[in-house]
Amino acid sequence: MKIKNLILMSVMVLSAGIIQAQNTQVIAHRGYWKTYSSAQNSITALVKADSIQCYGSEFDVWLSSDNQLVVNHDAVYKGVRMETSPLSACHAVILNNGENLPTLQEYMEKGKTLKTRLILELKEHSTPEQETRAVEGIVKMTKEMGLEDRMEYISFSRHATREFIRLAPKGTPVYYLNGDLTPQELKEWGCAGADYHYKVFKKHPEWIEECHKLGMKVNAWTVNDAADMKWLIERGTDFITTNEPVLLQGILKEN
Ligand code: MG
Repeated sequence: MKIKNLILMSVMVLSAGIIQAQNTQVIAHRGYWKTYSSAQNSITALVKADSIQCYGSEFDVWLSSDNQLVVNHDAVYKGVRMETSPLSACHAVILNNGENLPTLQEYMEKGKTLKTRLILELKEHSTPEQETRAVEGIVKMTKEMGLEDRMEYISFSRHATREFIRLAPKGTPVYYLNGDLTPQELKEWGCAGADYHYKVFKKHPEWIEECHKLGMKVNAWTVNDAADMKWLIERGTDFITTNEPVLLQGILKEN
């Protein structure tokens, strides 16, 4: 009997591991860019994230000086400051794969033809008013494009996070990135969960379970190392944002 019980328990533990592993979803950080002819935040990176069946493709958004939305990470890229330059100057920047720096409109038009979810990070702008204008523009464009059920919004800015929660359709996932709110506080804000640097979860592993108990999700970024990926998968992390989506997919398949 004892041996039978042991075998049964082992099967149960293994099954739980498999179930947990299958639950972890892959988000490509700035798209899938570490591959041929791609570049961070390029339309190609979005297409390539979709082509390898990532749950989502993350990208960064700025509001230009003429109140247009562009896709880029750095505040200043190739000599152009996004916030203080017009759309024409931002769009004229050539990415490392030869593409023009995309407008959000172009990004969404391509996204509409794909399946991967669009994980939109609004960067911290110099004033709250700029961020409100950006959120208003993003929410409006999303509606016009018919992409409301494909979007998730994330930000390091507390103001932008609150504005997404206020203005996006109810039920749209909104996550805060800065790592300094407890799961209970995130719940009170109306966030969908904790979307924190993985070291925050290493410091507070109990937050993963706390989020789940509160009915929220857990996303860790930017996880590029196999050991860290495994640590997070074992603890039931819902999403992992990574520059190495193929590595992560391989680990999930092994489990
Ligand atoms: Mg980002």
